[in-house]
Amino acid sequence: MPNAQISPGSSVAIIGAGVVGMASACALNRKGYEVTVFDPYYPGEGGSSKANAGHIGASDIFPLSTPGIHWKALKMLTDSDAPLKVPLKDFWPQIPWFWRFLLTSNVNRFKRATDALSYLCHNSIRDTKELLEYCNIAEKIEQNGCAFIYDNELSFNKSIKSWDERSSRGFSSEVLNAKKIAKITPTINDKFKYAYLSHHWAKVSEPIDIVRGLADSAKINGVTFRQERVNSVGEKFNSILINFDKGNSKYDAVVIAAGINSVSLAKSLGDFLPMTAERGYNLTIPLSNIDIDIPIVFADRGIVATSLASGLRIGGWAEYAHLSRPANPNYFNSIARISQDLFPGLNVENANYWMGSRPSTPDSVPVISKSLKIDRVFYNCGHGHYGLTHAATSANLLCSLIEGEQNLAEIKALSIDRFL
Ligand SMILES: Cc1cc2nc3c(=O)[nH]c(=O)nc-3n(C[C@H](O)[C@H](O)[C@H](O)COP(=O)(O)OP(=O)(O)OC[C@H]3O[C@@H](n4cnc5c(N)ncnc54)[C@H](O)[C@@H]3O)c2cc1C
Repeated sequence: MPNAQISPGSSVAIIGAGVVGMASACALNRKGYEVTVFDPYYPGEGGSSKANAGHIGASDIFPLSTPGIHWKALKMLTDSDAPLKVPLKDFWPQIPWFWRFLLTSNVNRFKRATDALSYLCHNSIRDTKELLEYCNIAEKIEQNGCAFIYDNELSFNKSIKSWDERSSRGFSSEVLNAKKIAKITPTINDKFKYAYLSHHWAKVSEPIDIVRGLADSAKINGVTFRQERVNSVGEKFNSILINFDKGNSKYDAVVIAAGINSVSLAKSLGDFLPMTAERGYNLTIPLSNIDIDIPIVFADRGIVATSLASGLRIGGWAEYAHLSRPANPNYFNSIARISQDLFPGLNVENANYWMGSRPSTPDSVPVISKSLKIDRVFYNCGHGHYGLTHAATSANLLCSLIEGEQNLAEIKALSIDRFL
């Protein structure tokens, strides 16, 4: 479908005020578009941008579906402390998604997804810093790398190939021995003796503050916010009609950045967007007795830890469950127990518990794309584990796409047509 000319000055509605929607609003506003953001919640409050781990995970270039994933997944499903969960009732409806997920582990598809993620990762720290600087919140990001801690020598050795591959793609790292681990993270359980320090990794001071900071800057620069849930999107002559509870409005173009809810909006437009809710669980301990200087990934546990303004945040996991299902309290208890093993003496008494739905595609690559059905409708969603990480770069790519650029390889790789 040829791109309609949507030049600066045109009106663009963004559905969703999570980190992806807000980064898109700032970028489009900066290019001279007249931007309106729709969300029934205050920016950052309505989805998974609210309380994620705060990592700018810019060396995580591999899709989740690695070669041999099916055996690993089966093993994990039988272990109650393993990070993968699929309630049986929710397994069946997700079979088509799991099938596509498994296909990603095929050598060629895996490489294609790795190439796309590498492009995003190469740009993410620079673009995030640049965006935060533009919004006067540059002090909210710091880049000191991330420690990837392995349970034992065997799993560390198995990881070496992936670190070499990262390194060959320009993402540097170094091995940390037990002494260095203890120096970087003195409060960690001293049983951990194997780790890598990834240099290409940063963290923000508090994820919700990033979204609020972007929203404040957008407001100052003239972006309009409408606290409305969008019920439907349709085409009307040469514009797009947005219907919400209290009425409707016309725009020259629309961006769907509604996190996991982008699926239902896409469906109503006739676009096929295979995305599922990959739910993560975490605890935030406000006045924790544990202090860590840099983000930590416990690579064998699917658990990450970060010191944030609100306290020590620890958690992760992946529960593939229906959106409407309430959070499983057992998972919070398990993560609290495991956290106390990772950091002996950790006091979880005053912890705040949170569960959020990562909007996950089967190849772990986001969708930054034109609609295949309606001209002037665009998607910026499906960022899975790394929406905060890739929001700024995604917003820049979205701008290029809206300006009419469709032929860049990096944009083509993110198109929704890869699912046809
Ligand atoms: C436990 C956990 C830890 C994570 N850690 C990290 C991390 O360290 N680093 C990282 O990069 N990523 C992390 N992520 C992933 C990251 O949080 C997501 O990828 C990111 O928040 C997605 O942002 P989004 O703006 O696309 O969606 P969301 O934040 O979900 O925002 C979508 C918005 O759309 C709105 N909306 C939905 N439907 C409608 C509608 N019909 N009309 C109007 N508005 C609508 C919602 O109210 C919501 O505000 C983590 C996720 C989880 C769950």
